[in-house]
Amino acid sequence: MLNVVIFGAPGSGKGTQSGLIIKEFWLDHISTGDVLRSEIKNKTKLGLIAVGYIDKGLLLPDDLIIDMLSNVLDGKKDSAGFIFDGFPRTIPQAVALKRILNERSTDVTTMLDLKVEEDELISRMIERGERLGRSDDNLETIKSRLDVYHSQTAPLAEYYKEENKYHAIKGEGTIGDIFEQIRKILNTCQIS
Ligand code: AMP
Repeated sequence: MLNVVIFGAPGSGKGTQSGLIIKEFWLDHISTGDVLRSEIKNKTKLGLIAVGYIDKGLLLPDDLIIDMLSNVLDGKKDSAGFIFDGFPRTIPQAVALKRILNERSTDVTTMLDLKVEEDELISRMIERGERLGRSDDNLETIKSRLDVYHSQTAPLAEYYKEENKYHAIKGEGTIGDIFEQIRKILNTCQIS
């Protein structure tokens, strides 16, 4: 299986690049943010809990999100591989992802870190808020999401460096140029 973690700050283009990756590499795209937004829309128990965190730009507790991810994977047993978008976001989530994949006789193949300057991230998210009406794409929540990213999520880069799975991607430029860097890396990945 080819299991890719797409990583980067909010607004770094993880969703856009995931859309291109799944078309070329036939992976299942799992975006924990999208799963949560659909739970909120359907007013499920998890959705009702999630809304309070998302609107403040805070992370949901690890145990809730890990259970959710594990359930999503249980529903996709015939997959050729996954692209994990927005997960893991903390070290305990990364450790859990390894365990969950190991239990399924596989592991994370590679991690792609989309690097984008902070000013650019903010203007992309403001523009997305106006275009899609995402409740957390407003300046106050964006600032809190960026703080959370720096304190809780960015340290994961070190975790994947130690696993020799880390790749930095220049996340600015055209969508096609960014994808070209990703394609080169994924084409050289050993599939386990
Ligand atoms: P995203 O669409 O990935 O930017 O996620 C939107 C929001 O969903 C985040 O700001 C968090 O509140 C929540 N969320 C998504 N993924 C996770 C995760 N792996 N751990 C905790 N909270 C998450």
